[in-house]
Amino acid sequence: MTVLVVGNGRLISRDETVPYLEDGAVAVDGGLIAAVGPTAALRAAYPAASFLDARRGLIMPGLINAHTHLYSSLARGLSLPGFAPRDFPAILAGLWWRLDRALTGEDIRYSALVGLMDCIKNGVTCVFDHHSSPGAVEESLFVIGEAVREAGVRACLCYEVSDRDGTGPMSLAIRENVDFIRHADRDADGLVRGMFGLHASLTLSDATLDLCAAQAEGRATGYHVHVAEAAADVDASLRLFGRRPVERLAAFGLLGPLSLAAHCVHVDHAEMDVLRANGARVVHNPLSNMNNAVGAAPVPAMLARGLTVGLGTDGYRADMLESARAAQLLQRHALGDPAAGSEAFSMLLAANPAIAAVNFPHPVGRLVPGAYADLIVCEYDPPTPLTNADGHLLFGLSGRAVETTVIAGRVVMERRRLVLDEAAILARARELSARLWQRL
Ligand SMILES: [Zn+2]
Repeated sequence: MTVLVVGNGRLISRDETVPYLEDGAVAVDGGLIAAVGPTAALRAAYPAASFLDARRGLIMPGLINAHTHLYSSLARGLSLPGFAPRDFPAILAGLWWRLDRALTGEDIRYSALVGLMDCIKNGVTCVFDHHSSPGAVEESLFVIGEAVREAGVRACLCYEVSDRDGTGPMSLAIRENVDFIRHADRDADGLVRGMFGLHASLTLSDATLDLCAAQAEGRATGYHVHVAEAAADVDASLRLFGRRPVERLAAFGLLGPLSLAAHCVHVDHAEMDVLRANGARVVHNPLSNMNNAVGAAPVPAMLARGLTVGLGTDGYRADMLESARAAQLLQRHALGDPAAGSEAFSMLLAANPAIAAVNFPHPVGRLVPGAYADLIVCEYDPPTPLTNADGHLLFGLSGRAVETTVIAGRVVMERRRLVLDEAAILARARELSARLWQRL
């Protein structure tokens, strides 16, 4: 691979040594960042490099989505006659569990490809996916892994173990996680990683949690699990098992420093302390939480306790800049405090890279030498000084501004044109989704 220099842009990095460069560039060599500096200096240092002109746009680290469900891609525009859920369990049972049970292998492949194209177009270069397809468990993570490699997006995959479809799919799900983690551990380039997926306390028996805990023994793996997303998860956990979700999952050893606890909307202060003591990372999903009307996560309280709180979409659109904006607005609205939520862009640009750093061998989502060469160029000409980058990201940009996406040094979208055959993938996805909807 020849060296690539992406330059002639306003470079925003959260790195202390070079937070902002008015005419900045990034040199990429072998999938990693070799240097960050002024365009002229890097062109002089790498005279033989190919040059990608940012045309005075913003050069930024690739964005990370710390919790999503690629399989939800084929649900866009789905309307189920008579479906009028009154609460979160009704949304799960009436929509998502009907959909995931009906997925075929080809549905899984195309929902992943569609979701990954959305990632690339929104500048998301790394995703933590949480997959479920009880009718097609075996090989499902390998199918997604193949799509991930085709798209060239960095991803950490897992299969959500649950008892809701019986012991057959539950056992297969455990094996799928174990097989895929083992497979991903052999992956030398670090593009695809594996975690152990769990649905949520409300659909997992003690016996199943024991099995899942035993599977990871001796292997450095984390669990990716929904935690206290809705009050119903807490109520069920207390009623059935006599403990709140965090206390219960922690008691099984499932919330260690490699684990991801998605949502944590209804955790109390004692649970926040348990999360902190165990080292688990939290992923906040503001748009999904608002969409499902489950409440506002106590993000300021979690941050005050020193928890790492990242940002995800939970499958609700791929635009992470939109999610960061929503994270800020949700706290302001919920707390009635116009100064709240100022941490939103740090969650996206600092906490998410900190989360990914644990799961990948090299730094992710950072413009520093030695980090993966995952970066984006946004079309943006600031009308005011670019001294406070967060303010520009908040008020001036959305995912649609991303015009070029580079992952592992590979240009996967240039000036809004994808390397993938977008039209062909969308055409096949429309055929498959029409059939899928008929089966529901
Ligand atoms: Zn989720």
